[in-house]
Amino acid sequence: MAASEKLQDQSTKQTKDERGTWFQGASSECTDALRPSVAPWRLVLLGAPGVGKGTQAYLLNQRLKACHLSTGDLFRAASKQSECELSPAMKSAMDHMRRGELVPDATVWEMVRERAACIRCSGGFVLDGFPRTLGQAESLKELMASEEIRLTAVVNYELPLAEIVARLSGRRTCEKCKAVFHITGQPPKVEGVCDRCGGKLFQREDDRPESIKVRMAAYESSTAPLIKFYQSLGLLLSVAATGTPDEICAHTISALVARTGVAAPV
Ligand code: AMP
Repeated sequence: MAASEKLQDQSTKQTKDERGTWFQGASSECTDALRPSVAPWRLVLLGAPGVGKGTQAYLLNQRLKACHLSTGDLFRAASKQSECELSPAMKSAMDHMRRGELVPDATVWEMVRERAACIRCSGGFVLDGFPRTLGQAESLKELMASEEIRLTAVVNYELPLAEIVARLSGRRTCEKCKAVFHITGQPPKVEGVCDRCGGKLFQREDDRPESIKVRMAAYESSTAPLIKFYQSLGLLLSVAATGTPDEICAHTISALVARTGVAAPV
């Protein structure tokens, strides 16, 4: 049985209606091929929690106008729905997320399949937080093969562990536009208020110390093996996640240009 079918088979047989409501969260909107490109970049971003994948995905999305798909954002949008609007699988997914654990592959895959339009975007895509397990990576590979499209590269952001923990515990996120700040490294002008949109800043439940430990363990056991997986496919590109977000984004693009030999699709 194909990997994607296996995941589908294990899934909790949610109906479209059950999924419908939570799927309408603001971040679930496809930013879709704003600028169709003849040679779109199709990227997966890897790296431990807190390494800055979300920020880089946002900057790459702005720069490349490629579709940005974040499974974490989709789950956070779902978590804002009232309990009774969530299917049992999504309620369970929310519990996993609050504890800092990975959501089961079957639930994640259901959600990604709903967003297959992002994978087909003619402007390319930036996947942030997906895939996170070998099962998810195999399913993505199959889906892309069936659509006859290929990944351009898998960018692996690297940062020492101590810095990751410091970044995560001081991180504050805007509840409206999802801009990310840091209480010491990048404080907002007014405490607790987003510089970009004036929204309220909050600490993600899974950025609390007890959840950080669980998330790092989940990363080591489930996600780190993806580095070897994509290395063996010749797709891995490591980038140091040090410097300002704009510097890291510039390094990412120049490393991708050097790798592909193709100018950035802007
Ligand atoms: P993120 O914002 O990417 O750090 O994701 C936040 C949380 O959502 C994670 O700690 C997981 O609980 C869940 N999550 C997001 N994406 C995935 C995925 N691809 N596989 C499993 N769980 C995920």
